[in-house]
Amino acid sequence: MASFETDYLIIGAGATGLSFADTLLKESDAHITIVDKHAQPGGHWNDAYPFVALHQPSAFYGVNSLELGSRRKDTVGHNAGLYELASGAEVTGYFHKVMHQSLLPSGRVRYLPMSNYSGIQEAQASVQSILSGQESQITVRKKLVDATYFTPQVPATTPPKFKVADGVRLVTPTQLTQIWQSVDRPKNFCILGAGKTAMDAAVWLLTCGASPESIHWVMPRDSWLINRITTQPGIEFFEHSIGGVAKQMKAIAEATSIDDLFERLEASGQMLRIDPTHTPRMFHYATMSEGEVQLLRQIKQFIRKGRVQVIERDALVLAEGRESMPANTLYINCTASGVEPRPSEPMFQPGRIVPQLLRAPLVTFSAAVCAYVEVHYDDDALKNKICAVVPFPRDLSGYVTASIANMVNQVSWSQNKKLRQWMTDSRLDGFSKMTASIEEDEHDKIAILMDLRANGMAAMDNVKKLMASA
Ligand SMILES: Cc1cc2nc3c(=O)[nH]c(=O)nc-3n(C[C@H](O)[C@H](O)[C@H](O)COP(=O)(O)OP(=O)(O)OC[C@H]3O[C@@H](n4cnc5c(N)ncnc54)[C@H](O)[C@@H]3O)c2cc1C
Repeated sequence: MASFETDYLIIGAGATGLSFADTLLKESDAHITIVDKHAQPGGHWNDAYPFVALHQPSAFYGVNSLELGSRRKDTVGHNAGLYELASGAEVTGYFHKVMHQSLLPSGRVRYLPMSNYSGIQEAQASVQSILSGQESQITVRKKLVDATYFTPQVPATTPPKFKVADGVRLVTPTQLTQIWQSVDRPKNFCILGAGKTAMDAAVWLLTCGASPESIHWVMPRDSWLINRITTQPGIEFFEHSIGGVAKQMKAIAEATSIDDLFERLEASGQMLRIDPTHTPRMFHYATMSEGEVQLLRQIKQFIRKGRVQVIERDALVLAEGRESMPANTLYINCTASGVEPRPSEPMFQPGRIVPQLLRAPLVTFSAAVCAYVEVHYDDDALKNKICAVVPFPRDLSGYVTASIANMVNQVSWSQNKKLRQWMTDSRLDGFSKMTASIEEDEHDKIAILMDLRANGMAAMDNVKKLMASA
């Protein structure tokens, strides 16, 4: 059995683990060991479908010390005019670079890919190599970092939860891209699922030439979507991004019910929905451009009868009924849940750190802040006070809770000079740099900031009433 020591043992070399490791490395002289079952850094991005991309700008995704992309704006496609979005291949290439050009060359990081962490007792962690079965005993001098909290489900590694009759053609989004090899080309497509993967599959089908009439879409719940223009990091988008937050707070302040809130958010350009005739019941921070939504509106054949239970040769059996389907339909399984509901827990616990959201939905920003706080503040009570976990929304009212928690964290951080300065300098904080750069004579922008402040306070006053209406 191999045995060695480390200061921090990070479980997971996904975006969370790498972002935490990067900031920990830069801010301390600690030794770090990173363990992951995957063969490469990047976590779920290694299993993603070929047409996956970030849904937020690359400019503020990844780790703090290395730019992702070149802050260019797209000039063609459905994201034209907005900051670039890294493709899945670019994201995995980026995380490879983070590991091999930054973390490992520091001489203070050990990386154990294809290795399974199975537990820790009295600071002795057990890790097994997946290929050789060899056990390693790792003495953890400071903390275990559980960077597996989010671990999203993706189609390639999540088997379907419904039955499939013999002869039915069911593919993952990855296999969908390989149908050019098939001699028996499908005439009809049926997308199963209502999340971001399903939206990506629909955009891919339409841009690759499938006719809207050939597409059915099983949509158990419609989703509210963030309008990507509100997430842009450049100062030229100040009105959309910072002004957007002010409008979101105004909507929370003035709404009389949760549905009324989302209608206000839609009316003020914050949120989008694919089908304007249906009231969405889901919100998971899926982010789309107006161009993508316009494209998706070409699809008219929605099946809204709940979740699929069985795919028969010529019909779908769903939780709320049956639907006849055309022959030669290719079913695309996009039902992996993406975000698995897990209860929040304190980030800092004795001997253990569990990075979670500090500003929803920014996973990598949150992990970097968590590492910064671990290095620069003393006791766990104070660290947990600075790092108040923002719960991921499980339903529409969760948007209110998360937005207010985001704002409370922001106000608390703004009073902490050291942390505020680090955030302003951080590439992962898309917005702080923008507000810090405003000059005294930029009256329009100052007015937006004043609106944000006033609306934020009014939003706090209305939260109780709004949540009671949910
Ligand atoms: C298609 C898609 C697009 C997304 N786009 C964005 C976006 O634009 N912006 C954004 O902020 N977020 C986005 N997300 C959210 C996404 O969850 C995060 O960005 C991030 O990649 C999650 O990383 P993670 O490290 O938390 O989880 P993972 O990538 O799942 O990494 C966890 C790692 O832990 C390892 N692991 C688990 N258990 C063990 C064990 N016992 N032993 C060893 N290793 C273990 C796993 O092998 C895995 O590699 C997207 C998610 C999906 C699915």
